Amino acid sequence: GNGAHAQALVIGTGYGGSVAALRLAQAGVSVEMIEMGMAWDTPGSDGKIFCTLTSPDYRSYWLRTQTKAPLNYFLGFPIDRSIPKYTGILDAEDFAGITVYQGRGIGGGSLVNGGMAVTPKRENFSYILPSVNADEMYNTYYPRANAGLGVGLVDPTWFDNTAWYQFARVGRKQAGRSGFPFVFVPDVYDWNYMQQEDAGTVPKSALGQELLYGNNYGKKSLQKTYIPAALATGKVNISPLHKVTSVSPAPGGGYMVLMDQLDTSGNVVTSKQVTADKVFFAAGSVGTSKLLVRLRDTGQLPNLNAAVGQGWGDNGNIMVGRANQIWDPTGAKQSTVPCGGIDNWTAGGAFAEVAPIPTGIETWASLYLAITKNPHRAQFTWNAATQTVDLNWQQAWKQDGITMAKSIFDRINSTEGTIYRTDLFGVYKIWNDTLTYHPLGGAVLGQATDDYGRLAGYQGLYVIDGALIPGNTTVNPFVTITALAERNIENIIANGG
Ligand code: FAD
Repeated sequence: GNGAHAQALVIGTGYGGSVAALRLAQAGVSVEMIEMGMAWDTPGSDGKIFCTLTSPDYRSYWLRTQTKAPLNYFLGFPIDRSIPKYTGILDAEDFAGITVYQGRGIGGGSLVNGGMAVTPKRENFSYILPSVNADEMYNTYYPRANAGLGVGLVDPTWFDNTAWYQFARVGRKQAGRSGFPFVFVPDVYDWNYMQQEDAGTVPKSALGQELLYGNNYGKKSLQKTYIPAALATGKVNISPLHKVTSVSPAPGGGYMVLMDQLDTSGNVVTSKQVTADKVFFAAGSVGTSKLLVRLRDTGQLPNLNAAVGQGWGDNGNIMVGRANQIWDPTGAKQSTVPCGGIDNWTAGGAFAEVAPIPTGIETWASLYLAITKNPHRAQFTWNAATQTVDLNWQQAWKQDGITMAKSIFDRINSTEGTIYRTDLFGVYKIWNDTLTYHPLGGAVLGQATDDYGRLAGYQGLYVIDGALIPGNTTVNPFVTITALAERNIENIIANGG
């Protein structure tokens, strides 16, 4: 409540925030978690907490009046529809050159993501986090993160036989025929539950077109792993629909934190002020960067250094569809959970997930989300005229990612005698070069902070989320975000500072 004091205050309830809260609480520290999104624990009038991909309703988007689906066209026709403005689960946040998708609610990105839980290849680690000891990460923190998140692999025999993964088997066959390795991708979705969905013995979720706007069953989001473990300590309290607006040194020591309580239309109901000994920024790469840049440049935290706001990347995200031959259907039944990828990182700078198009009808399309080694990095800056934080990413920079993605798909098209789909992202548009699902950086480890996330310039302020990672993880990022948070919080608890 207003005027309260917390030992530790955590801004955001995604991966970094959940790890911090659990480990601090286990060490005896009382923790207040502040989350701008909803709790997502109450069913709507249809009895479900979350809506489906194919029927997005008021629950789907964060304060938008129209959906903004990543796959926004079909057969060249726009498919976005009107929705009531509501504090929905998926934020499509627009900057000048890119739309950044993020989860909103208790659990952050874990509510909306595909659950693909990939530990990067060790040989690539020095590119991802050059100042971090790889032995420690691969011996201790990656295993700890994988265990805490509940990561598992699809049963290969079931995969080979189920109709729901025909799209992925087509992807595997075509990768192989072009000489690319196809790798199974682990996921936090409960694979046993998915097999029961297939058998018809439980309500369908991944096999019922649920993903981007939440899974009602089956997915082990943070709501099923780190967060209940943190709450079970009895030392953690979470306030949903509260948005942190300011952090500044308090006169008597510690920090004063200001926040707005929101209603489900996004209006400010009331503003509150609390104090905390320590504050952890875990608002996600964009949320943390926006807060820190504004607080530095408007004078609340003037000692933050010039690296704050720098080193932001899109994890090289590029989406593309291919049109298959008539004898290569991808299936009317498609699980929403991807489980395989095509690895051409070393030779071509691209790792591409074979993604579903779970529309319920045969499309003959293969969809991919490629993670590429796009070298461009953008910067967040405070715009005093508009009172907003801008990001200087340019859409043209995606061309490097497209070139890398083509190292895979031009060859597959040539082997298969096929072409790219031009009807999925616009009219005659092949590449989705306008978005990222994987924002990373903005308060880079060892630059804006020390080598464990302590912000330079202030004792007791920390960054503990994707903002620490300088723009690329070579694979999907949340396992690395979680493992790095486990490493950093252990050091902070042991050594303070
Ligand atoms: P987040 O998880 O983004 O959490 C930040 C939290 O802070 C949010 O809940 C936000 O609402 C809250 N917040 C922000 N600002 C404030 C504020 N001022 N006050 C209070 N609260 C605030 N990654 C993978 O590894 N595998 C995948 O399969 C995958 N699929 C994805 C699919 C989609 C559609 C999306 C959007 C992302 C996907 N990702 C995936 C990316 C992954 O979800 C993110 O990398 C991850 O969630 C980032 O973790 P984080 O701890 O940095 O922040």
